[in-house]
Amino acid sequence: KDLGLGNTVKTTCAYCGVGCGVLATISPAGEVTVKGDPEHPANYGRLCSKGSALADTLSSIGRLVSPEIGGVKTDWDTALELVAKRFQKTIAEHGPDSVAFYVSGQLLTEDYYVANKLMKGFIGSANIDTNSRLCMASSVAGHRRAFGTDTVPGNYEDLEQADLVVLTGSNLAWCHPVIYQRLLAAKTTNPAMKVVNIDPRRTATSDIADLHLQIEVGADVTLFNRLLLAIVDSGHVDHDYVAAHVNGFDAAVEAARNEARADLGISDADLQAFIDLWTGTEKVVTVYSQGVNQSSSGSDKVNAIINCHLATGRIGHAGMGPFSVTGQPNAMGGREVGGLANMLACHLDLENADHREAVQDFWHAPAMPDQAGLKAVEMFDAVADGRIKAIWIMCTNPVVSMPEADKVRTALEDCDFVVVSDMYGDTDTALTADVLLPATGWSEKDGTVTNSDRTISRQRRFLAPVGQAKHDWDIISEVGRRMGWERAFAYTAPEDIFREYAALSSLGGKFGKDFDISAWDIGYDCMTPTRWGKERYFGNGGFYHADGRAKMLPVQYTAPKSAPTDAFPLRMNSGRVRDHWHTMTRTGQAARLSQHLAEPFIEIHPATAERLGIKPAHLVEVTSPHGKAIVRALITDRVRRREVFVPIHWTGQYSSAGRVDALVTGYTDPVSGQPESKATCVDAQPF
Ligand code: SF4
Repeated sequence: KDLGLGNTVKTTCAYCGVGCGVLATISPAGEVTVKGDPEHPANYGRLCSKGSALADTLSSIGRLVSPEIGGVKTDWDTALELVAKRFQKTIAEHGPDSVAFYVSGQLLTEDYYVANKLMKGFIGSANIDTNSRLCMASSVAGHRRAFGTDTVPGNYEDLEQADLVVLTGSNLAWCHPVIYQRLLAAKTTNPAMKVVNIDPRRTATSDIADLHLQIEVGADVTLFNRLLLAIVDSGHVDHDYVAAHVNGFDAAVEAARNEARADLGISDADLQAFIDLWTGTEKVVTVYSQGVNQSSSGSDKVNAIINCHLATGRIGHAGMGPFSVTGQPNAMGGREVGGLANMLACHLDLENADHREAVQDFWHAPAMPDQAGLKAVEMFDAVADGRIKAIWIMCTNPVVSMPEADKVRTALEDCDFVVVSDMYGDTDTALTADVLLPATGWSEKDGTVTNSDRTISRQRRFLAPVGQAKHDWDIISEVGRRMGWERAFAYTAPEDIFREYAALSSLGGKFGKDFDISAWDIGYDCMTPTRWGKERYFGNGGFYHADGRAKMLPVQYTAPKSAPTDAFPLRMNSGRVRDHWHTMTRTGQAARLSQHLAEPFIEIHPATAERLGIKPAHLVEVTSPHGKAIVRALITDRVRRREVFVPIHWTGQYSSAGRVDALVTGYTDPVSGQPESKATCVDAQPF
């Protein structure tokens, strides 16, 4: 099935949750070119800078080409045998909860499925969590609390069909660029469309906004509670919808009325303008992303947004609804296969004994945990204090991307047994590994991903693996077989796994959940991008709580957990830049992607910079109670005086450069476990 010279293959971009279709062509001379797939419903031919540069990232430089044990090359048989034996020994001596998998929203669904099956059904622990915990766990929690399951109610077309799009905690222009392009085109076609941007920082996304609300960091719950009260007081509640489909209305309104007044940081006129736009526009979509999710009150923020849509019945119809845009290419697929420590596959519930038993029966599995495993921050805490004695990290680089990243590095260095499977052998995390396993990456592997609007697309292989690299599903299956579960992990192709997963999803339908693709007529090789489930959910109710009704949650403002002090007076926001992805292991290969922003930087207000003696383009040392980073000063009024912004991508592997997550607090949302990555208090001084 390899792509021959001169042929074109339809695949899906390796990066963000927009999930753009890509046409990859190998010329007769062997050169790869990519362009957007005009038939893919996510992008209709568009690509952003990162997607357009995918062909520039196919170099074998830095690739891990063979398994290594203790830094010494070895063969697959020896490495896999060691992994299987060490996990077996650790489990035998200390129990199944002494081991863990930390996986990734960049794994394909088939990889995710096999990892989840091995850990939950066969090892018997729920200690499998994912870097998606850092990305959208608060949206999952908010959806489950409001709807009874983790359903994204709408789709991308809704943003084009809306008359008002509210972008909150979302730099869509840089982080989901093709959706931003679609929104821009829709606004051009429909000049009456309004866009509101809610963000403490002025970003490229603010350029499209008719109204930019630079609210105080963390004030989202208060803002949407004010909106809810205005909806009630101005007579915009859809009483028929609420009476027929929604519980908790009175409690949510009472909580909003009783909320201790927090400073929103915006003028009364701007607040009123937002309220007038929202209440006065029926077709409204509220898009939310990491600025909402990455917070110690992220789940409450999500529910505060959903409350307003439920109260007005503005959900599940064209151009209406709350809409979570996910960061990673397969964060949604990970949610669907149950690749989080507190979930089962197909949106079934780990805490439900019937669901557990049904999944266990389906897998003919010897075990099934009856309580949630360790979520990402808890998992690395458990590595640090020795409760986790063996960990397998797949397709992600937590020594750069986890909060309190220095602590994570020390924990892994001191851990009894660390396995890392990755394309690259020189990541910060790979340097802590006892065993390194070379994995295939985009262009070399086959599988599926689910994007932010529930469209499942194929990634397709068109190049041979570099060196001895193997597919993640194959590596995990090999270990499963060597641990004694030969039949359960006898997969020979990703299609086998997808078919089993689709069959398992009939349990979703059986238990009244939304995710059930068991009736799909799967032509795996020729699969076209397909949105699972309905086009839209909940326009006429049909929620997934036991009584079929939604829940409005009573939520109130809570301050970010990291509080400013004399030593750390500035609040640090963190996020992506336009042209890089995660920890740059892939995008760092493409020279043109570093032309936009070549170095880690700190956005700092001119008045703050002057007070601190920081000059333009000079180096700045940023410190927090957890670590430090050296970055370039970018003096700008895009941030407010007491706030700074630092991007997430750079590593400090070879210096004290801009490894920002070394500074970030490990505080998490108590419901979702998502870290508060946008509100750490820091100091900044000339370096
Ligand atoms: Fe890839 Fe996202 Fe860009 Fe689309 S918007 S090309 S999925 S990075």
